[in-house]
Amino acid sequence: NGSPKTGIGAEGEPEDKNVDEAPISPAERSLLQKIIRKGLVENKNDIEVQRKDPTSPLFSIKSFEALHLDPQLLKGVYAMGFNAPSKIQETALPTLLANPAQNMIAQSQSGTGKTAAFVLAMLSRVDPKKDYPQVLCLSPTYELAIQTGEVAAKMAQFCPEIKIRFAVRGEEIPRGTKLKEHIIIGTPGKVVDWGVKYQFFDLGKVSVFVLDEADVMIATQGHQDQSFRIHKLLPRNCQIMFFSATYEHDVMDFAEGIVSNPVIIRLKREEESLDNIKQYYVMCRNLEDKYTAISNIYGVVTIGQAMIFCHTRKTASWLSEKMSGDGHAVALLSGDLAIEQRIAVLDRFRDGKEKVLITTNVLARGIDVEQVTIVVNFDLPVDLARKADCETYLHRIGRTGRFGKAGLAINLVDGPETLAVLKQIEDHFGKKINKLDAEDVDEIE
Ligand code: ADP
Repeated sequence: NGSPKTGIGAEGEPEDKNVDEAPISPAERSLLQKIIRKGLVENKNDIEVQRKDPTSPLFSIKSFEALHLDPQLLKGVYAMGFNAPSKIQETALPTLLANPAQNMIAQSQSGTGKTAAFVLAMLSRVDPKKDYPQVLCLSPTYELAIQTGEVAAKMAQFCPEIKIRFAVRGEEIPRGTKLKEHIIIGTPGKVVDWGVKYQFFDLGKVSVFVLDEADVMIATQGHQDQSFRIHKLLPRNCQIMFFSATYEHDVMDFAEGIVSNPVIIRLKREEESLDNIKQYYVMCRNLEDKYTAISNIYGVVTIGQAMIFCHTRKTASWLSEKMSGDGHAVALLSGDLAIEQRIAVLDRFRDGKEKVLITTNVLARGIDVEQVTIVVNFDLPVDLARKADCETYLHRIGRTGRFGKAGLAINLVDGPETLAVLKQIEDHFGKKINKLDAEDVDEIE
């Protein structure tokens, strides 16, 4: 059925020989993260301004009204449930909307409101009276482009005169066509085809160029070069908005090559900690014991949702089948699934249709699931040498603590080797992990 394969296993972490699963690509991780997110990631850190135009002072706004947006657009913003700008938006939006236009490089972790910021800027820069593409947004993959387009469509729901076109795989147009839509959202390859090769639109008339997920972009062979080819044909005064979730040398080198005289803003990721987390372990003799422990835990999950991490795909599907067989509503996110299926699973879990999500270490590494209150390590995270993978443990269990919500982590230990891993984790964080009897999991709530 032509299911898109966005380079699953192409990039990402080094392969773990103990695992029967290929790692997911940065693009897919970013997509899954977007799907599962319910709202903003809050962040108490301050915005860092790394470079600014000395002639125009940087300011920030505390309300969307202060931006003097088109009323229909403002209505769209409120209809999305956005009451006030997020931290990155407070600082980014005034610059993105300023006249004369300024270039911007903005970096903050996924979920902090970057997409909403540049989509708002894109929409408010459109002149609907001009029937040609004025705004061009590059995304690394088909799915990410669609996500951005959906945000734009929602925000522009009261601005029916603004037209958007996707330049992605599957979109075909006859030679000689001249596009009339105001906004083009697409992947680099297709945009090179449409804008450079077939000239379905004039890159020389584009006044806003957005490069989204730059860090993901550079992880794909060829995307950087295609971006440069597109960039070369843009007018000199085209406003450039460059966004990235991470801030590494290669991303900044890419940015330097594309964005001249930028305002650079960053919002550093808040440190995760185990402070608000109750950590327990349950001693199990075998797989059946582990299953019993899980079933008991499932019984007490009355608030929120749980996520269960297994080391292999096989264990994950075994567990999911067994729990389903026992009448529990569980979701399984596994490497066997095509990307649309993964999206569907995470959609359902986000909407609370299942209380429990079972997954593998590989698939869920780096994906934050904020609404989860209980994390179960069916298998503890280990590295290639079978030593404790403390970083993954922290990321999975840790919170930034800002919600004051207490989390709960339960580790299943099935022998001396796993117990040793648990001790390594305890020592690493200097925090005790208490023993829990499988029979009286009630005491955890
Ligand atoms: P990023 O691009 O940094 O990953 P998004 O723009 O996708 O972040 O925003 C993350 C989530 O927060 C989305 O669900 C989005 O709808 C929501 N969101 C964005 N801006 C706001 C805001 N100002 N108020 C409330 N929710 C917001």
